[in-house]
Amino acid sequence: MGSWWALDSVLKEQAAYLNYYRSIPPVACPRCGTPLTNGPPQAEAVLFCPNDGWQYPRDYDPESMAGM
Ligand SMILES: [Zn+2]
Repeated sequence: MGSWWALDSVLKEQAAYLNYYRSIPPVACPRCGTPLTNGPPQAEAVLFCPNDGWQYPRDYDPESMAGM
């Protein structure tokens, strides 16, 4: 019983962790680390990297980029 509770707790923590990073946009490009800026103007509510064109949320993958 104790081990099941521990595993259940870990899974819930991981889900909460992923949901947290899904709910907030990244502040810097996961590829190059350049701070993201708002835009481009024709696509509001999008963040993009002026260095290489990486876009949020289009190119965002929380499964591999969470925590970056
Ligand atoms: Zn970039």
